[in-house]
Amino acid sequence: MTKRQVNELEELFGEKFSVLPETLDRYSRDETSNLEAKPEAVLFAEETDDAARLLKYCTDNKIPVTPRGMGTGVSGGALPIEGGVLLTLERMNKILEIDVPNRMVVVQPGVITGELHKAVEAEGLFYPPDPASLESCSVGGNVIEGAGGPRAVKYGTTRDYVPGLEVILPTGDVLRLGGKLRKNVTGYNLIGMMIASEGTLGVVTEITLRLLPLPKVRTDLLVPFKSFEQVARTINEIHKTGIIPAVIEFMEQRALEIVEAYLDSKLPVPGAGAYLMIGLDGQDAESVQRDYEKVGEVCLANGAVDVFVAETSNMKQRLWKTRRSLHDALHDLSPQMEREDVVVPVARIEDLLKGVDEIRTRSEVEVVAFGHAGDGNVHVNLLRGKLDEERWNTERERVLAELFDLVVSLGGTLSGEHGIGVVKKEFMPLVTSEAERKLYKRLKQAFDPAGILNPGKII
Ligand SMILES: Cc1cc2nc3c(=O)[nH]c(=O)nc-3n(C[C@H](O)[C@H](O)[C@H](O)COP(=O)(O)OP(=O)(O)OC[C@H]3O[C@@H](n4cnc5c(N)ncnc54)[C@H](O)[C@@H]3O)c2cc1C
Repeated sequence: MTKRQVNELEELFGEKFSVLPETLDRYSRDETSNLEAKPEAVLFAEETDDAARLLKYCTDNKIPVTPRGMGTGVSGGALPIEGGVLLTLERMNKILEIDVPNRMVVVQPGVITGELHKAVEAEGLFYPPDPASLESCSVGGNVIEGAGGPRAVKYGTTRDYVPGLEVILPTGDVLRLGGKLRKNVTGYNLIGMMIASEGTLGVVTEITLRLLPLPKVRTDLLVPFKSFEQVARTINEIHKTGIIPAVIEFMEQRALEIVEAYLDSKLPVPGAGAYLMIGLDGQDAESVQRDYEKVGEVCLANGAVDVFVAETSNMKQRLWKTRRSLHDALHDLSPQMEREDVVVPVARIEDLLKGVDEIRTRSEVEVVAFGHAGDGNVHVNLLRGKLDEERWNTERERVLAELFDLVVSLGGTLSGEHGIGVVKKEFMPLVTSEAERKLYKRLKQAFDPAGILNPGKII
């Protein structure tokens, strides 16, 4: 950016616009390992008009703009890798309306997901998407990344809850898409295009979300197994019962050891090869009990060492704190790591977990797996540990190539929820055809003719 452009933007936005070195430094990172990029300026948008005016100015002046929610992304989406202005939506953080009769909520993009949960639950309503980062990520970031979470097994992901959006195109035009509607087939599905677009097509400034009645009862089980294979088989057997648990999370023993050491707290279960955390919910205690007894039987019949029921809210909290702290615990152990987020059809989860176990035995990097196995999405983490730089780079590349080959052979794909961003874009040809990638480019051109919005991501 030129001095003149900086002056003009200061003139337009006053103190919402900053080029202070400490501000630029603060916005040069997200939660992606070992990747940084400094913006040349930061705009703290406080209303739709701020984002619209910035985008128009930057399109006219060919300045890159990188939108940002709360910077918890792990694929580098919010990093301004081509400089320009970082547009943070964090100050647009109001819940505008909880519409109980329509079961909808209207929010600004900077609302923290966990705060949205609490606000709607106080009205007896339920917003299911629950990324493990929910205490720190924004609803706007969730929409734009298509975030999932443990409850996706039963309730789907953010994609399933967005009937309305306000979007600013890079040209500064404001679109009001959809609304508080349960059905809508009017025109192209532009809302669908915005979801998981990783901030490359438009900036979201208002979101309407669909809500459900709050389940009245929820029971959580922790189930240790001797082996990976037993866990994988059990997941398939649970699916066959016709019961849909709200959550089926998987964690291997090494992951549990790492997170227990990090939290300095142990779950009261025997050491085992791998664990399932299963949550069942519903509107009445009897049906939930029937379901969890049946699921418990299936686990025992498939080799579970025992089935622990988290009876107290304290125990439930410890269980989910353990699960939610896994990312941080791994990062604490090995600041340099690769977080993969592969997804396969649910019925292939057994093959995926077995394949990951085989890859691990041939690997010099430590491979630790956990995640939302109930919906086919497993986080496979590669930890550098004490490997030297050269060895880490070659081993990481080799292991990633093996992992992606495995996933593709099972009909899966690269990312279930973390997105492509900068870190996975080189692998896109593995899972997309040339014709598809050409179409992406033409779509990008239609939304963003000057190519200023979050350049260098996905394609
Ligand atoms: C500990 C931890 C646990 C996690 N667990 C999960 C999980 O369980 N499930 C899951 O899906 N993800 C998870 N994530 C990843 C991350 O939290 C999600 O991707 C989240 O949706 C990002 O939200 P954010 O507000 O931090 O967005 P940011 O990181 O700030 O931005 C993410 C992307 O969205 C764009 N963007 C943000 N806001 C807007 C907007 N209003 N308009 C246009 N573009 C925008 C940015 O340009 C960027 O490309 C986890 C991350 C961490 C660190």
